[in-house]
Amino acid sequence: MSRVATITTRSPEQTEAAGETLGRTLGNGDVVALSGDLGAGKTCFARGVVRGLDGGALVTSPTFVLINEYRGRVPIHHLDAYRTASLAELMDLGLPELFADGVTIIEWADRLVPLLPPDAIAVHIEGLGDEPREIRITQA
Ligand code: ADP
Ligand code: MG
Repeated sequence: MSRVATITTRSPEQTEAAGETLGRTLGNGDVVALSGDLGAGKTCFARGVVRGLDGGALVTSPTFVLINEYRGRVPIHHLDAYRTASLAELMDLGLPELFADGVTIIEWADRLVPLLPPDAIAVHIEGLGDEPREIRITQA
């Protein structure tokens, strides 16, 4: 998979596999910026990315803790901005230091665009429920 791709998936397993394929290509400093509606499959894709980085298998949405940490080939930070009140709150997390340390996967990344590195890998997922998902991966 290149860093510009559009993939159609027809099951959670396929979405996870797409994430795993991307995860295998990632290294220190890479930021995966996920967007898409609630239930689109962001956590599902993130689970695959963690697997592609040889991280733990039990990846759950960090919706209530903001950041989950996993240890793979590199440290993995899994952040969910869904319940974050403000950019100020996110700035308090020290994101630049986080981004420099291993790989960071962000759900609802569209809520913190000004804080993302310019070379973040954008992953947008369209589709809900039983629909196929269209996953668009782009990197500036
Ligand atoms: P998000 O993190 O974007 O809110 P989740 O990954 O938590 O979404 O949930 C996605 C839901 O959609 C899961 O219940 C999953 O089983 C379902 N689903 C159905 N088809 C797909 C697909 N092709 N890709 C991803 N998830 C799918
Ligand atoms: Mg989620």
